[in-house]
Amino acid sequence: MTGRKVLIVLLLVLALLVLTAWRNPNPSWIKDIWRKLPVHPDRKYNRRTLSSIEQVIIHHSAGPTTQTPLSIAQYHVGPNHISNEGIPGIAYHYIIDRKANVFHTQDLKNISWHVSGQNTRSIGICFIGDYDQLEPTEMQILQLTKLIQYLNRKLGRKLQISGHRDYSTKTCPGKFTDLEQVRQKLNY
Ligand SMILES: [Zn+2]
Repeated sequence: MTGRKVLIVLLLVLALLVLTAWRNPNPSWIKDIWRKLPVHPDRKYNRRTLSSIEQVIIHHSAGPTTQTPLSIAQYHVGPNHISNEGIPGIAYHYIIDRKANVFHTQDLKNISWHVSGQNTRSIGICFIGDYDQLEPTEMQILQLTKLIQYLNRKLGRKLQISGHRDYSTKTCPGKFTDLEQVRQKLNY
């Protein structure tokens, strides 16, 4: 190929990449499913601007590793939820399952209810599984750090990293989840 043809091919590839990024704002390793998850028929979350987000709060589902984003969403919005009437939508903005798949499960602009008193300024990220019993896999920790790195870049600031336990008497995200290791990996 001549230099000119190579240049044209490169420009086409670049245009395709830009178009793909514009159509799908999340990177391909994040499975964007939040528009497809069930929501409460009557209740709605309050909204926020992305500028009010200052931290990520890590959770675990404290259930079997076979849970899925869908089963968690169904539980949160349904009548069996601890609230007795269900909450407006799934509490977590992101979920990392046992196989380390990363799911985007809630609109970042929705102030979903995952930690009382912290919701307006926080993003909720949940590991599927009970990490009072199991250790998170290396892959799960790696995906969590990658996700926080991505969110820091997307929001243009270094988000504080907390566990639900920092704001409650619960052990959440489980006694085997070492958030200090995550902070170190990210050079916090
Ligand atoms: Zn929690």
